[in-house]
Parts: sequence; C-alpha cells; structure tokens
Amino acid sequence: MKVFAIAEHRFGELNPLSIELLNLANKLGESNAVVIGKDVSKFAEELAKFAEKVWKIEDASLENYTPDLYVDVLLQLINREKPDVVLVGNTAQGVEFAPYLAVKLGYPIVTDVVAVNTANGFVVSRYVMQGKIMVDLKVSTPCVLTIRQGAFKEGAQKSGKVLDAGIKPSKPSARKFIGYVQPEVGEVDISKAEIIVAVGRGIEDAANIPLAEELAQALGGVVAGSRPVIDSGWLPKDRQVGISGKIVKPKLYLALGISGAFQHVMGMKDSELIIAVNKDPEAPIFGVAHYGIVGNIFDVVPTLLDKLKAKK
Ligand SMILES: Cc1cc2nc3c(=O)[nH]c(=O)nc-3n(C[C@H](O)[C@H](O)[C@H](O)COP(=O)(O)OP(=O)(O)OC[C@H]3O[C@@H](n4cnc5c(N)ncnc54)[C@H](O)[C@@H]3O)c2cc1C
Repeated sequence: MKVFAIAEHRFGELNPLSIELLNLANKLGESNAVVIGKDVSKFAEELAKFAEKVWKIEDASLENYTPDLYVDVLLQLINREKPDVVLVGNTAQGVEFAPYLAVKLGYPIVTDVVAVNTANGFVVSRYVMQGKIMVDLKVSTPCVLTIRQGAFKEGAQKSGKVLDAGIKPSKPSARKFIGYVQPEVGEVDISKAEIIVAVGRGIEDAANIPLAEELAQALGGVVAGSRPVIDSGWLPKDRQVGISGKIVKPKLYLALGISGAFQHVMGMKDSELIIAVNKDPEAPIFGVAHYGIVGNIFDVVPTLLDKLKAKK
C-alpha cells in the first residue's frame, strides 16, 4: 500500500503531527512524505528520517499556505503517483484543504481518524456524538484521511530519499495572503505541563483558586480547569481541559472537585497518573482515576500542602 503523508509547517517549524502521519504511513506500507513551500529542503531532510521517500514541491507562490494552491499541486502529484491513502493532519489547515482535495480527486474522506486497522479490510476509527461513541468505518481505497494529533505517536525510523516532484502551481492563487494573526499566548502551556492541578466547579469561587495555585507550586506543576471554571472567568481560556479546551497528557493529573463529564475526561484520560478528589463517591471521575479520595477539597488540599511542606 502506497501512503502519502502531507506535511505541515509554519514559521519555519515542522508541525510534529507530520511525523505522526509518517508513523501511520510506515505501519500501512510505503511511506511518502509530501512537503510544499518556497524552500522546504530543511523540512524534507527532517521528514526523510521517517519516510521512504520525500516529495518536495517548491515555488515562490507556495511560501504561505493557501488551500487552492495546495490542492492544485497535490492533485498533480497524486494523479501522477497514485497513492492508495492520503494522510493529512486534522488541523485548522488540514480540515480546510483535505475535503476540497478529496472532492477534486473523487476519493472518500474520513476526518479526525484515531485508529486504522487493516486486518479485515481497510477500517478506520473515529469518535462521534462529541466523543461518546467510537465508530469503525470500512473505507474503500484510494481515500483521504485526516488524522488526530497524538493518535500515532510511535513509529519506525527510516532514511528515505528526497525527490523534487517537479511540480508547479498551474495558476496563480485566487487568494492573497495578508498575514497570520497569532492567538494570544498565555504564560503557561498546559498541554506541555508534566504536573497539572485541575480545578472544577467544586472550587466554588475565584477566591479559592490561590489554594490550587499553592498546591501546583508545591508540586512543581500548573493549574488548569474544567469548563465551568473557565466560563466563570476564574482561570483564562487557555487553561481549559477537554474537548473544547486542550488535550493534556501530564505525568500527574490531580482533579479537584471535577465531576468527570466525558467532555472533560476526553481531554485528560491519557494522563499517566490521575488522582481525583471529590466529595461524591459516585462521581464519574473515579471511573478514570487511578487513585481517588472521597473528601472535601478544602480539607484534603490543606492537609496535602502541610505534608508537602513537612517533607521539604
Ligand atoms: C459541547 C460541549 C463541550 C464541552 N467541553 C468541555 C471541556 O472542554 N471541558 C470541560 O471541562 N467541560 C466541557 N463541557 C462541560 C461538561 O459537560 C461539564 O459540564 C463540565 O465538565 C463539568 O465541570 P465540573 O466537573 O467542574 O462541574 P460539575 O459537573 O458541577 O462537578 C463539580 C464536582 O465537584 C464536586 N464537589 C463540589 N464541591 C466539592 C468539594 N468541596 N470537595 C470535593 N468535591 C466537590 C461535586 O461532587 C461534583 O462532582 C462541555 C460541554 C458541552 C456541551
């Protein structure tokens, strides 16, 4: 099976998801990376460590991403090289051009794929109903798949060859690139934190957030929150964990007064160690926690702080 993985880069940095696409490509068959831009040699060399072949598509007009030019050059390459599967990152960029590409190719597309199984036909898995249910879909090839970040973290190393695809856009873009508008960046990136103290509605009030901050500081971690905490303005938006916030995988996730709604759990369930404190023994968070404390956070946290201080 010949697999194309369309790499993504911005501001001179390769999106690590590009390597995850190649991890999947290597599991499925012959891995080919495709990298598009003005001068992409640096990215091509990096991708060649994980791909059998890297196709470079370079042109001054490709300096900045535009969906029409990406689809234009990809159509030329795909129609010539005929891969069985085209993998695209399920990113803002990927979900914009991948459906357009699939329609132009006449291929089926499945978005936000988290698993691929070839034991019994070509079967892909994705979540539906806001993450409540996972479905398996049998897909005919050739096809286009967009892949969720974090789903294919492990993979084989390669030392592939870099090839110039010899392809240029067939026409100028109908869009003019004006500039990137960067999102506001908070001082803390919870998706990279190793220790997270997460607070839920059980924290009751903004005035109690410093208690969680003190615990986070004592543990060497950061504070995050469930959606009600963010919606109440007690923590900034970039601290929200869950399907409409950030996906986190810390070494320790301490959940304080969080019920464990699936929209929250989807964002933290892969944490290495989950400890939950909740006064309700029936709280669903205990279903995902490795250790649970049935108790009041306003008793448990000060006790924990005392123990940590004593230890230091
Ligand atoms: C489309 C959609 C997207 C969503 N996205 C997200 C998301 O990204 N992230 C997210 O978190 N939610 C999200 N939600 C909301 C989600 O459904 C839940 O409403 C939310 O996660 C609940 O937050 P919580 O656990 O803090 O509050 P609650 O469900 O109210 O739970 C509070 C918990 O604290 C416990 N408690 C109260 N006082 C104490 C105390 N003193 N000591 C110990 N325990 C105490 C209670 O027993 C309870 O279990 C989304 C919802 C929708 C519809």
